[in-house]
Amino acid sequence: MEFCDECGSLMRAEGDVWECSQCRNVEAKGSGEFVLTQGQEASEVIDVSDSESGLPTTDARCPDCGNDRAYWYLQQIRAADESETRFFVCTECEHRWREDDH
Ligand SMILES: [Zn+2]
Ligand SMILES: [Zn+2]
Repeated sequence: MEFCDECGSLMRAEGDVWECSQCRNVEAKGSGEFVLTQGQEASEVIDVSDSESGLPTTDARCPDCGNDRAYWYLQQIRAADESETRFFVCTECEHRWREDDH
């Protein structure tokens, strides 16, 4: 139900707009409900602290505490054409290191 801003008469749906049956005033339907989606950027940083339990584990020796179990994940450091780097997170002390640091 929509009423004309000009004369107060009941408006009727006419395609994408409301049209006044009295004065032919036309108003857009659902104005102000459009949500711009431009500018949204997905975070490319993996927050390991939130998803550690979901990460796969592998045999990797922690350089910090000597534990031989670590979560691992792949992350691209720079440009998209560079290969991904494997990161490890110690299951014991949560120390993080890159695979190619050794
Ligand atoms: Zn009207
Ligand atoms: Zn460790």
